[in-house]
Amino acid sequence: MSQRIIYLDGNYVREEEAKISVFDHGVLYGDGVFEGIRVYNGRVFKCEEHINRLYNAAKAIMLEIPMSKEEMTEVLLETCRRNQIKDGYVRLVVTRGKGDLGLNPVSCKVASVFCIAGSITLYPDEMYIKGMPIITAVQRRNKATIVDPQIKSLNYLNNILAKIEANRAGVPEALMLNHDGVVAECTGDNIFIVKDNVIYTPPIYIGILDGITRNTVIELAKELGYEVKESEFTLFNVYSADECFLTGTAAEAIPVTNVDGRIIGNGEAGPVTTRLLEAFKAYANNNGRDIY
Ligand code: PMP
Repeated sequence: MSQRIIYLDGNYVREEEAKISVFDHGVLYGDGVFEGIRVYNGRVFKCEEHINRLYNAAKAIMLEIPMSKEEMTEVLLETCRRNQIKDGYVRLVVTRGKGDLGLNPVSCKVASVFCIAGSITLYPDEMYIKGMPIITAVQRRNKATIVDPQIKSLNYLNNILAKIEANRAGVPEALMLNHDGVVAECTGDNIFIVKDNVIYTPPIYIGILDGITRNTVIELAKELGYEVKESEFTLFNVYSADECFLTGTAAEAIPVTNVDGRIIGNGEAGPVTTRLLEAFKAYANNNGRDIY
């Protein structure tokens, strides 16, 4: 029996007891929002940023979260405490709640909130050193004028379809282009390239998640004296880049050394990537909101 304690709608319960209704619109329609959050060294990394993103996503879909940001933060911290998390990954989820079979959210009277504290491994360990091969998915990233990728919603089908393409190609991750064919992001990570010592990453408006790891890496890179440009680029720029890497809460930061069969740079994690990965690790291990 699992020892894990889950927060669910006001109670801390054992995993076996953490059940939600089959009529929850999060299940029936992917109607809800979530956050994936890291804990490093007994501290919640970028706690406020994650809570703010969750509430902004909820606001965008007109989902009323039945607690304040302070209460939500306490749920997050207390779930970590009850599971004695020192280093881990936490999932905060808010669903539209239990409704009827129609898609209309008015049948859902109160949102459901749950929090799972655990761990996550996205990519094989050795790829953090050697680099990872990825492919470009045929599947395009959701258009920002339809369902804005800035909304971290429970509807991840767009990304899942791209992930299936990666699985079928035998690589761990897929790069997604936006509707115009411009490089957007991967299924669960933001993308960066390095060319002539300048760091490039796609701007938010082209239709990507406003990644918290992305923003941290941009800040760290600037502090280290690099020029960082948030600008549009194409696959050609990725193929001909000196370096490429991905960032995300679950992935942290990982070098990419092959894209669609093109070797990136010299096929190894490059110097800028390596420096930034180290800077990120050092920063993550020493910053965050104390849990204990
Ligand atoms: N893009 C997508 C589609 C994601 O799901 C994630 C993971 N949350 C990211 C980018 C990276 O964002 P963050 O650094 O905030 O985890």
